[in-house]
Parts: sequence; C-alpha cells; structure tokens
Amino acid sequence: MQDRSVAVVLGTRPEFVKLAPVVRSLGSSARVLHTGQHSTPQMSSSFLQPLGMPAPELLEPIAGLPRAQQIRRATTALVRAFTVARPALVVVQGDTNSTTAGALAANALGIPLAHVEAGLRSDDGNMPEERNRILADHLSELCCAPTDQAATRLKNEGISPARVLVTGNTVVDALNSCLPTRSARKAILASMGIASGAFILATFHRPENVDNDDRFAELMAILATLPILVVFPVHPRNAARLAKLGLDSTQGSLIRVDPLPYPDFLALEAECAFVISDSGGVQEEVSVLGRPVIVVRESTERPEVIGTFATLAQPGEIAAMANGLLKSLVRTHEQLAATPTPYGDGHSGERIVDALAALVRS
Ligand code: UDP
Repeated sequence: MQDRSVAVVLGTRPEFVKLAPVVRSLGSSARVLHTGQHSTPQMSSSFLQPLGMPAPELLEPIAGLPRAQQIRRATTALVRAFTVARPALVVVQGDTNSTTAGALAANALGIPLAHVEAGLRSDDGNMPEERNRILADHLSELCCAPTDQAATRLKNEGISPARVLVTGNTVVDALNSCLPTRSARKAILASMGIASGAFILATFHRPENVDNDDRFAELMAILATLPILVVFPVHPRNAARLAKLGLDSTQGSLIRVDPLPYPDFLALEAECAFVISDSGGVQEEVSVLGRPVIVVRESTERPEVIGTFATLAQPGEIAAMANGLLKSLVRTHEQLAATPTPYGDGHSGERIVDALAALVRS
C-alpha cells in the first residue's frame, strides 16, 4: 500500500486505544485524522503518546457539541480532507459520532470503508452508540468482527459473509503493548497511595448513568459507602455534571483522580480487587487481566464476557454484589486467571492490515 493511502479516522479515547495497533501495522501507509471529538490533553494529545501513535491531522474541534452537529461538522471536514488527498481506503472503529462521520464521508465520496470492531449489538436503539455501529457496519466493504458472535450478528442482518472477517479485538494487542511490568505497576500504585488488591476501580460515562441526575447521585452515594477504597478517574463528561449537580466525588471511600494515561489505567485494572464500570473497553480488558467487572448497564453489546468476567447490575444491586465479590476474591481471581479471553490472541492489528491490503488490491 502506498504511503499515507489508508485514512484512519478517530476522535475518542477508545478509538485511540483500539486503532493504535492498526496504525502501527500500517506503518507509513497510515494517514491518521483526528475529528477533535475528545479534545482535552488527558483524553487526546498526551493520551496518544504512550500508544505510539503518530501525530494526527487535527480537524476542527467538535467536543461537547450535540450529536447531529458533531456528525455534520466532522463529516464536512473529512470530505474536504479526502477531496484534497483521496485515500484508497477509510478505516473507522467502534461506535462514536466520529465513526459515523468517517463512514459517511467515505460513502459520500465512494471510497471503500473498513469497520474495526464490527457486529457489536446491544439491541438498545436508544443508545447513540448502537445507531453509530449499525450505520458503519452496513456501509462497510470490510467488517472486522472481534468474535464469532459479532460475525453472526452481521450475517443475521443480511451482511454478506464475504464482507465479514473475524479478527479478534485490537484491544488485546493494545493492552499487551502498554501494560506496565509488575514492578512498574507497584510503583504506580505506591504513587497513588493504594495497595494491590485493596481497591476498586470505577469508571462511568454513559448517558444512561451520568445524564440522569438521580441515578448519578445514587451511584456516587453507593460508591462512597463501599468497604474498600474506590479509585474513580473522572471522565470530562462527568466532571461538568458533578460540578453542576454539586455532588461530592471525594466523599467516603472515593478517591477522585483525573483521567489516567492508558498504561497507568491498565496498571490499576490489573491490580484492583474488581472494577465497577459502564465502559465497553473495560469489559474487554478485564478478560485479559483476569479481573471481575460489575457492569452498571441495562444491556451490553459484549455478551462474550457475561457470566465469567462481567455481571450486569443496577445501582441498587452494586453494594450486595461488591460485598459478595470481596468475600470470594482470591478464588474469583484464580478462576478468572484460568479463563481465556474471548477477544483473541493479540495479533488482530496485523490480521486487519492484511485484509486492508487485500481490499486495496481487489
Ligand atoms: N481508560 C484510560 N484511562 C482512564 C479511563 C479509561 O486509559 O482514566 C481507557 C480504558 O482502558 C479503555 C478505554 O479508555 O481502553 C475505555 O474508554 P471509555 O470507557 O471512555 O469508552 P468505551 O470503551 O466505553 O467506548
């Protein structure tokens, strides 16, 4: 593939993580375009550095705008960029408004599209993420499904099996290359004043949890009363909401921290007792690190980990589940350490790039 001929469109933290292995495998063929959906240094410029990502072309910032405006502005900027220098192929990942913008821009200009992490479905059409992923899948020439289950979902929606490839999830590749060594993890924990196995890691950013005032307040109150420390890296989406609602995110067991660099977050994920989260990527990462996660959501598009690494819960169920987990922690960690991740062997990036090269040749 020619230099800079594959346009990789990204704009948010999970896309940076999961496209880094693809960009690495593409080498000089990659042209990385950043929609500006996440724009704070902690979620963008400095977050990219440990992932070994080249400096992206930064389009007009769209952070904080309503969904329709984000999609409109990013699509317009991408069409402009692709008109000036037409790529042979566009790659998008996941389920964000940047994913939709990349897919629409490629489609408008008749450029082949590949979707990394295709075929995930929560069956909840109220989630913007669900609408974003369905659109990208149905516009793609190549759907890179992380698992057989995801591939089956695509085929059941009428997508030709010839367009679907099971690649594994690139999050495993990213994790393997960024996870600090045991001693480096210990040093990270020591710098935060916490000890291995003696804390819970909590993250929240989904609208269903943080945009509902009562539910968000209930979540904070429950986390604050858990019997061990709860490290809570605050997503920018939450920081504004916490301030507006006057919620105290430092009360009781809570240790509030800024969004962490990826290696530091992985260190905490590997060394925690367990995780409480609504994050998609976290549900996958714990399956590599052998940690349980309480998923505070009605549904998940990651059914592969339910019943092993992950359990769905409503806020009112968290305390009982957390206490249950704390009683059986050693046994649970041993069981999960012996349970293989369903997300692949850590070579998804190479597999995807081989398929992209075949698509360019065809
Ligand atoms: N993450 C991180 N630092 C943090 C919180 C999360 O590096 O302080 C990483 C996490 O390891 C995962 C990704 O960000 O790879 C998940 O992003 P997020 O939860 O924002 O999005 P989702 O996966 O739900 O789409």
